[in-house]
Amino acid sequence: MLVTQRRNAAPPGNMSTARTAYEGAGNTHRRPNPSTLSRSVRAVPKHTHTHVETWNPIPGWEGYYEVSDAGRVRSVSRSITRDNGRPYTVGVRVLTQYSTKSGHRCVKLYRDGEGTPYGVHRLVIAAFIGPCPAGMEVCHDNGDATDNRLSNLRYDTRAANIRDSVRHGTNHWANKTHCPRGHALEAPNLVPSTLKAGGRTCLACSRAQSYVKYHKHLKPEFKQIADSYHHSITEV
Ligand SMILES: [Zn+2]
Repeated sequence: MLVTQRRNAAPPGNMSTARTAYEGAGNTHRRPNPSTLSRSVRAVPKHTHTHVETWNPIPGWEGYYEVSDAGRVRSVSRSITRDNGRPYTVGVRVLTQYSTKSGHRCVKLYRDGEGTPYGVHRLVIAAFIGPCPAGMEVCHDNGDATDNRLSNLRYDTRAANIRDSVRHGTNHWANKTHCPRGHALEAPNLVPSTLKAGGRTCLACSRAQSYVKYHKHLKPEFKQIADSYHHSITEV
């Protein structure tokens, strides 16, 4: 379900001109009324009366975890059986998020004792909009990778995401510390031929690019392939 958020509290359509003018003048001298404050200027809303945080099940984790349009993840209350055979009820709990090197917020989701890390932005958009179309990725409209409100997320192309990050001045590629995939640009993860020319190209992504060039059906898997190349390159 998509929740439409009102940027500003718009006056009702049948409001008289006089009243609108009065309100307009009044507003400039009044402290902003919290109930009419734009959601975009708020921190993550916790318990507000003006905006109800909407929770959706996380696809593939139904009955275990939910994610909200404010970018929070919680476990769902459920009964589990302990090793000693005793039933035990797990309560609703909002998960603690941690940050990756690339600045993204992550959570670990657990099933059968095994934890899997997920980017919160991916969970939010998957639960409220749907799966990521092939060749696209999650983009943060305002360039803040920690702002995972649904209203700040969209699916777009890699190229658009890079354009965004250049515009927001957060392009890791331009800063030359990490490639756009978040791989550290340091030996041995550098393409030797570009190094001579003064360039710093991510070896993992470069290998993944050649790989998907000859395995076109694996293109949607590019990220995972690049990450696994990066893992094997940096593995001691
Ligand atoms: Zn890379």
